[in-house]
Amino acid sequence: MKSNHQTLLRDRAYVGGEWVASLSGETFEVRNPATGELVGTVPHMSAEDVEHAITSAQRAFDEWSERTATERAGPLRKWARLIVDHADELAAILTSEQGKPLSDAKNEVIFAASFVEWFAEEARRTYGDTIPAARRNMSFTTVKEPIGVTAGITPWNLPSAMVTRKAAPALAAGCTMVLKPAEHTPLSALALCALAERAGIPPGVLNVVTADRSAAEAIGRTLTSSEAVGKLSFTGSTSVGKILSAQCAATMKRVSLELGGNSPFIVFADADLDVAVSSALFAKFRNAGQTCIAPNRFLVEASVHDEFVARMLKAMESLKLGDGTEAGVTLGPVISEEALRKIERHVENALELGASLLAGGKRAQRKGNFFEPTLMSGITESMAMSCEETFGPVLALATFSDERELIARANATRMGLASYLFSRDASRIYRVSRALHAGIVGINTGMIATEVAPFGGYKESGVGREGAREGIDEFMETKFLCQAFSA
Ligand code: ADP
Repeated sequence: MKSNHQTLLRDRAYVGGEWVASLSGETFEVRNPATGELVGTVPHMSAEDVEHAITSAQRAFDEWSERTATERAGPLRKWARLIVDHADELAAILTSEQGKPLSDAKNEVIFAASFVEWFAEEARRTYGDTIPAARRNMSFTTVKEPIGVTAGITPWNLPSAMVTRKAAPALAAGCTMVLKPAEHTPLSALALCALAERAGIPPGVLNVVTADRSAAEAIGRTLTSSEAVGKLSFTGSTSVGKILSAQCAATMKRVSLELGGNSPFIVFADADLDVAVSSALFAKFRNAGQTCIAPNRFLVEASVHDEFVARMLKAMESLKLGDGTEAGVTLGPVISEEALRKIERHVENALELGASLLAGGKRAQRKGNFFEPTLMSGITESMAMSCEETFGPVLALATFSDERELIARANATRMGLASYLFSRDASRIYRVSRALHAGIVGINTGMIATEVAPFGGYKESGVGREGAREGIDEFMETKFLCQAFSA
């Protein structure tokens, strides 16, 4: 491990304010997807370790929830500041376990801090209502109360931002949390905990348990079956989200689920093609295509298809593939060999069914999980890459020629997270953006994630919203105080 990020690198989990090994003493390795090198070793915890973490979170709840919002905001604001101050160290840890280019990792760390700062402020605005009473001599008011102990399960594609997007609103609301980060990227979550500890977030308020994939199901079951846990916030695949949601039903736990996408990226002939191309480059190739809001189906109006392809090929020349720590690299590895195989399968399937390969299309000739930036055209609905997220650096183009047909095709999926629309016609923008079945519509932009606006999906892309005013509401109950008084 390089010395520049040793201070925040942890080899223990964080439970009840202590840095702990697993009860079994077992550990697992974290490896760099660009090089295969060992980055760190962390505890491989089991259901029993998780029970301890839940107990710690329960013990911490009363004191934390009884604080005023301002009293909770103090350490949260400090945490946000520390994250920003340590952005370089955190980015180095993130890149070493996840692979994304250092500059992207740093952007993610700043994004992670933005959630902490936002929710520290938002805590003070969790207003209830005074409702005109429906009966005489009565007062009707509502108050917002924290749900209690909550659970978070996060993915590897944004190892820092997904942690704070859950932990910050939970803590700001007055909840405590037990969080399990993805097995590929536990080090970023633990580094964030080290800063939470320094910021004065009390023991037990935020607990991070780590485990390899083999224990993910058992840990999920422990969190979802516990009567002490009032809420689960999960980001990951739709298949796991459905399992967890079903498990939560038994105790009627509240759930927030941020799941997969199959986002359309629509380019009308009247669009500014340069804006569409630069947005496509950003939205598709950032994080090597591994974001749930990455456009998966590019639908380009037939009359500008060839021009779009020509400009896209030119823009893709700017992509530099390599180890995220190398200067100038913009395209890192994908997370695993399994991820590489899925991308290969999608490309092969599309070629077999008649698609054309315009660039890339194969693993890069180097060590690590690298896939060449790829451009394909002639994509049809029956191809695997139209039906499932490819989660890799593959830009797959199809054409359309009629707006109604386009809308039907864009919506012909059980997913509904993001969508992107490029046009200069104000009426068309309004019509199409309202007709798309998705939680987010990027209009003439590929940058749609921000702490100040709600993020979440329609249909099987999830339940609930993260960020924004809605994000803290997800961790609170509304209590109605129905009071009679003597006249
Ligand atoms: P991916 O396939 O991208 O890794 P997953 O949905 O499988 O996405 O993983 C997201 C998170 O869910 C990770 O932290 C992972 O360990 C966890 N996870 C995976 N399977 C389960 C499960 N059956 N129960 C609980 N958590 C799980």
